[in-house]
Amino acid sequence: METVVVDLVALIDVDDTLYPKGRGPFALVNHNIDLYVMDMCGMDLDAARSLRRTYICSYGSTLQGLMHEHGCDPVHYLKKVHDVPVEEILKPDPRLREALGRTGCRMAAFTNGSYEYARRILKALGVDDILAEVFSIEYMDFVPKPLSWGYLKAMHLFAAEPGRCLVVDDSEANVRTALELGMHGVKVGGGLAVTTSMDGSPSLLEGASHAPSDEGRAGSRSLSISTIYEIPRVVERLGCN
Ligand SMILES: [Mg+2]
Repeated sequence: METVVVDLVALIDVDDTLYPKGRGPFALVNHNIDLYVMDMCGMDLDAARSLRRTYICSYGSTLQGLMHEHGCDPVHYLKKVHDVPVEEILKPDPRLREALGRTGCRMAAFTNGSYEYARRILKALGVDDILAEVFSIEYMDFVPKPLSWGYLKAMHLFAAEPGRCLVVDDSEANVRTALELGMHGVKVGGGLAVTTSMDGSPSLLEGASHAPSDEGRAGSRSLSISTIYEIPRVVERLGCN
């Protein structure tokens, strides 16, 4: 299949998007966040998890809560929680490399993780040269998705209108924010494809895989978004709109 070239910036999540959900290092990061809260706040695991839920609800993330309530140093936090053996868990994925390489639009990683952690994942998967631009939590001033701050900064950085941006993410909440800002969005790993409609208002398209004979048919509205490997077809469709 030929490489598609469209005027689009794809902002692609990292954890549970570039690799199958639950099969990467994110569970270990999540565990480290529990440990960090337990240590900083002097509480047991159950209390730490309860506090995290409160912080996520009130501030958008555990880190934001710790910064506001405990004066947490975000650099120290990010270094500690992302201290996980990425390279032992993830291996080069030639199929991912082929799919991203064929997508043909400008791409950047867009992650709530730290810059160094994201770069390690991209390198372990063998796509660090393709996703060379990493818009990480540091660039978002530690304000995480799905809050709009990072999306707005990314659009400014890439000098892209909302309608020329595509957010690719395993989190429905993160995709919803993209739509609210007038960006395109695709949820990876579920049965629901989401994109802006022709008039710019958010709309939902139920995801369904193309039969091979349907692939590329003009006017087709069905998109397969079960894995990141399908991203070239999504970009091709948006390029036609
Ligand atoms: Mg994710």
